Amino acid sequence: MRILLISPEVVPFAKTGGLADVAGALPKALKAIGHDVRVFMPRYKKVNCRMKKINSLKVKLGGFTENVNICEGRIPDTDIPVYFVDHQKYFGSREELYQVKGIDYPDNLERFSLFCQAAPLFLKAINWKPDIVHCNDWQSALVIAHLKVTYKNDPFFNRTGTVYSIHNMGYLGMFDKEDIYLTGFDWQIFKQDYLEFWDNLALTKGGIAFADVINTVSETYAREIQTPENGYGLDGMLRSRSRDIYGIINGIDYDIWNPATDKNIPRRYSTATLSLKVENKIQLQHKNSLPQKVETPVIGMISRLADQKGFDILAGVIEPLLHEHCQFVVLGTGEPKYHRLFQELKQKYPNHIGINLSFDAIFAELIYSGADMFLMPSRYEPCGLGQMISFKYGTIPIVRKTGGLADTVHNYDSKTGEGEGFVFEEYSSKALLGAINHAIETFHKKSIWKSLQEKVMQLDYSWDASAKKYVSLYMKALEKVGIKPL
Ligand code: ADP
Repeated sequence: MRILLISPEVVPFAKTGGLADVAGALPKALKAIGHDVRVFMPRYKKVNCRMKKINSLKVKLGGFTENVNICEGRIPDTDIPVYFVDHQKYFGSREELYQVKGIDYPDNLERFSLFCQAAPLFLKAINWKPDIVHCNDWQSALVIAHLKVTYKNDPFFNRTGTVYSIHNMGYLGMFDKEDIYLTGFDWQIFKQDYLEFWDNLALTKGGIAFADVINTVSETYAREIQTPENGYGLDGMLRSRSRDIYGIINGIDYDIWNPATDKNIPRRYSTATLSLKVENKIQLQHKNSLPQKVETPVIGMISRLADQKGFDILAGVIEPLLHEHCQFVVLGTGEPKYHRLFQELKQKYPNHIGINLSFDAIFAELIYSGADMFLMPSRYEPCGLGQMISFKYGTIPIVRKTGGLADTVHNYDSKTGEGEGFVFEEYSSKALLGAINHAIETFHKKSIWKSLQEKVMQLDYSWDASAKKYVSLYMKALEKVGIKPL
């Protein structure tokens, strides 16, 4: 199959969250099973890749036209082409992807409309007809709307199936309706069934309304987004498409996330040499100016500092916990109120908490390898990668039972030995505290803890299984456009 994966972020070129991990790893797994997969993304300032210009296009954004170059590079160590949309003003001059200090770039609609409209123009220009166009989140949703509306009668695309992946329902891509002309559409599409949402534009609706099939990144989340609690006002629309909605759990790229080969951690280890993990713990404590004590459990967190991630219930219990014998190490960036919370905690409890309020991929690896436990108290979590990465590093997750966390982590039962971590259900500080205390208690039972670590390190969340599920999803999309796959 010829597959074009369109994503606003792709590892290793640009990342703000799990979507980038998926967009970097899924193409490799699809390629490994014989598909011709290519990637389409913006060329942000921070993209570091050898590339050459292969095309230039004129994209009409309502009343004006922008010149765009397309440059071709490769996903490192592969021959998978990556087509970068090169536009100095919209992408090349931006330090960040979507926002600075929690404030969105005011021209995000222009930026991502240009990105989306460039895709079909480019495919036609190079005469490459994909079987599947796979878009991800609101930034690329308009591609699907254009294929199904603007290019509806264009024979070039009449055998192309479309897939829309929702990585997080919380981001609808909302913009002022008066700017609709920037999308390349007119008011005809400003209807409740299409892009209109409470008198605004919501770009994600372009994907939901028009994609041949829709998926989210876990089976539980696929059900949750169809409820008022997690549907962000679109649960009704999603329910109306429920027969076309699937859940596929993300995989982990073990070329990157593997303590036995990870070059960025102080000491490599595997299940056979698990006792070496503690050397990473000592380094982690040292780098965070924490007492270097092996007996003290270290709880790691690596997260966008956003309401979704459960920091409000954590705020309610962290102080009593810091009085006890445990240490916290937090790596994250996001909402200023949480930056303040952690800065205050560091001042008050310098020997119990380490804070790193930045995005730092190398430091993340030190936390995954050095912490004893990994905390994800999310209000909602479409898939969650942290818990699966933690498994591989023998770091035991403590999670709330929601979305992909519910699908991958089951509560440890001391009687049966079943379970892969510590799970709580009610979204409250009390329930969270219960799970953390259960984890700390178990941590002190040395042999039980070790066998739990060995068990989770052997779990297999590689992309192989998930890539095959994506292929069957692509087949379903092809059937929708009237093509019977072989
Ligand atoms: P989300 O996509 O909602 O942010 P996921 O758990 O799916 O959450 O993916 C988060 C990914 O981003 C993980 O790979 C995690 O290690 C990484 N990450 C999050 N924040 C940071 C940070 N501040 N520095 C480095 N990596 C981070």
